Amino acid sequence: MKKFDPMESMAAARHEFGEHGGVNMCIEASSTFTVMEADAMPPLFEGTTGPREGCYLYGRHFNPTVWGLGRQLAAMEGTEAGYATASGMGAITATLFQLCGGGDHAVVSRTIYGGTFAFLTNFIPVRTNISVSFVDIGDLDQVEAAFTERTKMLYVETMSNPILMIPNLPRLAEIAHRHGAKLVVDNTFCPMIVSPAVHGADIVIHSLTKFIGGGSDIIGGAICGPFGFIHDLMDVNTGVLMLLGPTMDPHVAFHLSLRLPHLAVRMKEHCRRAQIFADRLAELGVPVIYPGLPDHPQHELLPTIANEGYGMGGMFGIDLGETDRAYRFMENLQNEQRFGYIAVSLGYFDTLMSCSATSTSSELSEEDLKKAGITPGLVRFSIGITGSLEQRWEQFVSALKSVGILEGARSV
Ligand code: PLP
Repeated sequence: MKKFDPMESMAAARHEFGEHGGVNMCIEASSTFTVMEADAMPPLFEGTTGPREGCYLYGRHFNPTVWGLGRQLAAMEGTEAGYATASGMGAITATLFQLCGGGDHAVVSRTIYGGTFAFLTNFIPVRTNISVSFVDIGDLDQVEAAFTERTKMLYVETMSNPILMIPNLPRLAEIAHRHGAKLVVDNTFCPMIVSPAVHGADIVIHSLTKFIGGGSDIIGGAICGPFGFIHDLMDVNTGVLMLLGPTMDPHVAFHLSLRLPHLAVRMKEHCRRAQIFADRLAELGVPVIYPGLPDHPQHELLPTIANEGYGMGGMFGIDLGETDRAYRFMENLQNEQRFGYIAVSLGYFDTLMSCSATSTSSELSEEDLKKAGITPGLVRFSIGITGSLEQRWEQFVSALKSVGILEGARSV
């Protein structure tokens, strides 16, 4: 069977014409839509007509431009449908509330983005009657044992933030489905690289703020899955997106649609550079976490779920031993070398770096940080694609020297 290729799938989905024959889709900025016959309105409320029939009702419901972006993202992920949200957190929270009601339960990977972790530990147990069990996603027996009769969702990230652990998606899908639950995968770190739906995921989520946006200028999110699920999210009486309202603005959707055609090229370059940096750092004896290195625990697993030709991810982490040294290293890289920026987020065309334990994972307690394998000196890099690779490597080496790493690299 021919392997799924998101580039081919997206090319087919994006070949459309704007209203006046333009080579891009139009921005439909209307917040409300008319019908030519009044009796066309009730089926829109009932959900028996909608965007698939070319019928629109109201901007918080479906918008043609946002629907267009959703179709392109669905093509990328190999799902039936998709829709965009105002943020990645909007996509995550809407999906959880659509799948889980009062008394229901979710099994969730312990190594996830700190905002999602905070939502599931500080918000959900206090404000709702939904319960959550955190598991080590690499331990399939532990995952299986966490399921209850009320489990509706198994939630993982394709490449966990920040320690870059890869889940065994086919096995997790099999476990979730055997228990009548949905496998939900946050694929923010791996657009194009992995297509979770091809390996059994029911719903694929993105923060479009990251690699897909690529410019650190837009906040957005997406939910890709079966048409029925996307349709249910928009139900005027019960749909979580429709009722909570974290919808994407069509102007934003239009701008994001222009970033998709070159996403594959960008991802390949992010991955190529991350691999070369990781190889060279490992060679120098610097402790580095990268799935493309043979000592990464899922080095063999990733190629079994990765699409061909994209690489092993655009992120890596290095452990500088202690927080203070990590800070001095990042300051040198930003302020002396002009290598990149000390900033949270990822997927920007320039390099972004942060000390995970005191930034994007600071929501975790000391014990949870330890359980998740996030050490105090771990610096996460989202490696950029600007400048030449050799210029960037020279800057990196100078910064390592500035904190005394290279002389004693093997004892860091
Ligand atoms: N998922 C992951 C893996 C993330 O890293 C983030 C943000 O950093 C989010 C979701 C949330 O996305 P947003 O900031 O667009 O709400």
